Amino acid sequence: MKKVLLLTTGGTIACLPTREGLAPGLNGATLAGMLPHGVWEHYQVSIRDILHLDSSNIQPEEWQVIAGHVFRSREDYDGIVITHGTDTMAYTASMLSFMLQGIRIPVVLTGSQLPMGHPLTDGLENLRTALAMAASAVPGVFLAFDRKVMLGCRGVKIRTTDFDAFESVNWPLAAVVDGKGLEIHRQSIPAVRGDCELRDRLCPKVFLIKLTPGLDPELFDMLLQMHYRGIVIEAFGAGGLHFIRRDLTAKLRAAARAGIAVVVCSQCLYEPSDFSLYEVGQRALAEGVIPGRDMTTEAAVTKLMWALGQTEDLGEVRRMFETSLAGEICAS
Ligand code: ASP
Repeated sequence: MKKVLLLTTGGTIACLPTREGLAPGLNGATLAGMLPHGVWEHYQVSIRDILHLDSSNIQPEEWQVIAGHVFRSREDYDGIVITHGTDTMAYTASMLSFMLQGIRIPVVLTGSQLPMGHPLTDGLENLRTALAMAASAVPGVFLAFDRKVMLGCRGVKIRTTDFDAFESVNWPLAAVVDGKGLEIHRQSIPAVRGDCELRDRLCPKVFLIKLTPGLDPELFDMLLQMHYRGIVIEAFGAGGLHFIRRDLTAKLRAAARAGIAVVVCSQCLYEPSDFSLYEVGQRALAEGVIPGRDMTTEAAVTKLMWALGQTEDLGEVRRMFETSLAGEICAS
């Protein structure tokens, strides 16, 4: 029997109704006790409750706590399941992919749209899928939801209530559950390289800008004053920022001079951005921005926090963004 560690952090899956609304209240033993009896014949599950939070409260400090538990337990288990709120699960899954590069076991995040105590909960299905993936011996950080398993760094929450809440953006699914059981798509799972070290240093001073027509360039002055060290810009379409009347490119120059790393992505969810296509993108490239290409916003933000925690050398940060560390970017 495969040994699986269940780490719980809270989220809807563990929620109970309170007078102030749903709040995490169930512990791991109660969650696990709700699984159908047959499931226990397949896995030997150990349980550790590490956090009791709505995932809106999960922040960089909590990412370090979760990564530390996974790292220290990695040799004692065949796989690890982490229950987590869905709202920021994609950020946590992306960050863990960077902090735990080289992990030799499956680490699978899951949660649910309806609390486990609800008679119609999707939590049972999600937990069962996550346990199956955790027992698969396929190394990496994954997100399991609605019978789909995706790379942690490619998951995005796209629906607020539907059980089909997550999508693997710009990357095929790592596995699905169907009539054949857990079908693993090995060709879409990057090979794990190197030894696993806990690389949990990060810089939380990263700001995300969703560009809107006419956005005031003075915003950049404010970010500089606030000592932000990284900015991710979700620009328009394939890649463009305005420069007439309100010149954002001049501000990109100022940011580069101040030693701020700027990563540019698209606000379109699907397909890669290409800032070399239009003048409005080329001008940004000329100011030294780092192309985020086909990365999700969640992966771009967490990778920038992580990269700035590893090095102060912006050339090195750029090289990290040119390389796929966990399958988050299609290396050209
Ligand atoms: N607010 C909840 C959370 O992210 C939502 C969920 O888990 O589905 O913790």
